[in-house]
Amino acid sequence: MRMTTAGIALLLAAAVPAVVVLGTGAASTAAPASVSTTAAPVVAAAAPSVLRAAGPVPSSWEGGHAVAVAPRWWPQGKAHPSAAWPALWPKPVAFSPMRKGPLSGLVIALDPGHDIGNRSHVSLINKKYWVGLTKTCNTTGTATNAGYPEATYNFDVVARLRRLLVANGATVVVTRDRNSASTYGPCVGARGAFPSQEKAAFMVQIHADGGPASGRGFHVIAPALYQGYTDDMYIGSRALGNAMVVGMRTQGFRPATYLSKVVQIRKDQGGLNTSDVPTVTVETLNMRNAADARLAMSSAGRQKVAAALYAGILRYARTR
Ligand SMILES: [Zn+2]
Repeated sequence: MRMTTAGIALLLAAAVPAVVVLGTGAASTAAPASVSTTAAPVVAAAAPSVLRAAGPVPSSWEGGHAVAVAPRWWPQGKAHPSAAWPALWPKPVAFSPMRKGPLSGLVIALDPGHDIGNRSHVSLINKKYWVGLTKTCNTTGTATNAGYPEATYNFDVVARLRRLLVANGATVVVTRDRNSASTYGPCVGARGAFPSQEKAAFMVQIHADGGPASGRGFHVIAPALYQGYTDDMYIGSRALGNAMVVGMRTQGFRPATYLSKVVQIRKDQGGLNTSDVPTVTVETLNMRNAADARLAMSSAGRQKVAAALYAGILRYARTR
């Protein structure tokens, strides 16, 4: 979506220097209970740079230098083109590179889908907005049969992926800084508008599917050509999607057995329609499938997913 309010965003960017370093207090409230501080996942098939960065998994703010990003505007629809981020939303956050590497110079946006607090803010989550179609602000996401929520999984995988990226030279901007019962959102339109506001080259949205229990595997959702919305980024998104498929395969993940195509081209995704840079959603596994649920609920499994996503991003960065 081409935004007429880009000038406003630039003004805000100039007026609000993002130099607020998150303290340890913020870290302890922001880190989800599921983030292990002791696990040392093994990433057997990973490239050497990935192995070095995999290490013990610390709290979600370690690895890279966390800098709060001033919340910007977000598209509310045709009648109300932009608005400030509500106070109840998690805040966006940026991480600077830890060292030089193959991704040096790149700003990469990550979007961990949903928020654990969505389920306790039902009326706000169900408010409808125009994002190329009328959609609710967000949804609660799925969960494993044992009750491990997708929002928590997404947040944990993004924390691991972000560590790999900053260890290999990238600057990483993330749409939400916490997975908290007291926050909700951001709405999908805000997630879509986020990467270009932060001058990111592209965005990967991390999700897990709630598919049929009998099927397992990953798939990627890329935007269809939608004039006025995705015409500026659908070709790049297709390339990003294909790279993510290759990346997922490097760690042994297989395309979803319950879909005919591993890359689903869709026009109904608000976060894709409203983005101005190449953007895809990776449905990394199927939480309703017993084998995939075991992967999702183990720190080694989530590290493997992060390593696969890293491989896909590295591939796209080298070929785009
Ligand atoms: Zn989801």
